[in-house]
Amino acid sequence: MGRLCFIEKASELVREFLRYIGEDPLREGLQGTPERVIKTWEFLCKGYREDVSSLMVTFDAEGYDQMVLLKDIELYSICEHHLLPFFGRAHVAYIPKGRVIGVSKLARIVEVFSRRLQLQERICSQVVGVLDKYLQPRGTACVIEAEHLCMRMRGVEKQNSVMVTSALSGVFLEDSKCREELFGLIGLKGR
Ligand code: ZN
Repeated sequence: MGRLCFIEKASELVREFLRYIGEDPLREGLQGTPERVIKTWEFLCKGYREDVSSLMVTFDAEGYDQMVLLKDIELYSICEHHLLPFFGRAHVAYIPKGRVIGVSKLARIVEVFSRRLQLQERICSQVVGVLDKYLQPRGTACVIEAEHLCMRMRGVEKQNSVMVTSALSGVFLEDSKCREELFGLIGLKGR
C-alpha cells in the first residue's frame, strides 16, 4: 500500500473513532483533525523507524573506569495499554570496562526507545540491554521517574503519583555500594 493511501486509510479510521466517541467529524473544528492526528502519531512513534545500533559508536575509555551518569534526560512516551502519554526523566549510568560512548548518545538511546508504544519498565530494560550488548561495561543502570496520564486523567490512582522503575546489570546489581552511589547521585534514596 502506498504511503498516501495509507495516510488516507488511517485518517478514515480516526474519523470513525471521532464518530464512536460521539463527535461529528464533519464539524468545522475537526475538519483537519484526522490528518493532524496521523502526523502527530507518526512523530510520537518515530522510534520504530530508528535503528539504535547506528548510535552505538564506542571509543577507547583510556583507562577511565568510574561511573558515567547522564541525569535528568527528558522523556516522553506512550503507554501501550491506554495510548496515553507518560513523561518524566530518565537517568542512565554505566561503569566502563574499556569502552565508552558519546554522552549525548545516551539521551538519543532513551529517545529511540521511548518514541514507541511502551511500558516504563521495558524502556529501562531495553536501554540497559543495548548498552550491555555494545559496551560490555562492568555494570549498567537505567532509572525512570514518570507520571502517567492514564493514571492521572482517569483518576484511578493518586493524582500526583510518580512511578519509578529501574533496570540494573553487573556491579549495580551485585554491589550495594555501587547502587547506593548511583541512587545518591540521582537524588533517589538507595532502595
Ligand atoms: Zn496506561
